[in-house]
Amino acid sequence: MVTQNVDGLHQAGGASDVVELHGGLDRTVCLNCGDVASRAGLDVRLQEANPHFGPRTDEINPDGDAELPDEVLDGFVMVGCVVCGAGPLKPDVVFFGRPCPATGWTGASVWSSRRAACWCWGRP
Ligand SMILES: [Zn+2]
Repeated sequence: MVTQNVDGLHQAGGASDVVELHGGLDRTVCLNCGDVASRAGLDVRLQEANPHFGPRTDEINPDGDAELPDEVLDGFVMVGCVVCGAGPLKPDVVFFGRPCPATGWTGASVWSSRRAACWCWGRP
């Protein structure tokens, strides 16, 4: 399956051999060296670096983002990439208006070349 979903919905439903054209929220990518790592691993490292920081927000925006006042973020320790030590890190997904990475197109091409037919729905 080739999907634009980034939330692992198809895999959670039992699908295998899934090509995530727009990436996946379960991973991070380092913008310095390109390393792809587990987002759960990043969460553990962030919790270890910030043991007194917990979930908190006054308001969650419609896009799922939360805005926190600067004073809440004072002292927050950001962790770096596990490979290069730098970063920044971002979710391994295509942000709005950005092109799909070549790996997604290559994966979709390989996937479709192994099928006699495919069923497409949604918007191109
Ligand atoms: Zn890196």
